[in-house]
Amino acid sequence: MPEITLPAQGRCRCGALRVEVTAPPLFSAACHCTGCQRMTGSAFSLTLGIPSSGFAVLEGEAVPGGRRGALRHMHCAACHAWIWTEPPGMGFVNLRSPMLDHPPRAVPFLETCLSEAMPFARLGAPHGYDAFPAMEEMEGLLAAYAAER
Ligand SMILES: [Zn+2]
Ligand SMILES: [Zn+2]
Repeated sequence: MPEITLPAQGRCRCGALRVEVTAPPLFSAACHCTGCQRMTGSAFSLTLGIPSSGFAVLEGEAVPGGRRGALRHMHCAACHAWIWTEPPGMGFVNLRSPMLDHPPRAVPFLETCLSEAMPFARLGAPHGYDAFPAMEEMEGLLAAYAAER
């Protein structure tokens, strides 16, 4: 069963920024890295990998925030909530899934940076990694996600 029903809409904390997803997610994930802990003020971030062609801002303005580097972390210009991240050259965006009006209910498919996890916050995802899956492993993981969810 798909994790979300398309088209799926979402919004930031204040509601000024609204986004829409029109393509099936490539994966769902929780990241336990200390960067995500600091960005969220919580134990991990939640992600849906969405093909860039299937992701759009409907309303409002997004501005870069967080750590300024190769990854662009996009935030609502009004309330500064962290909405999505753009990994360079990957063709997908990492949408923070709690922004969706109907976020996925299942435990994420992937769990990353478990070596940095707060011990109480491990989710027992089907695929867990101390850091990140190797590039050559991604194709198989995406195929498994497409088949299972
Ligand atoms: Zn992270
Ligand atoms: Zn906002």
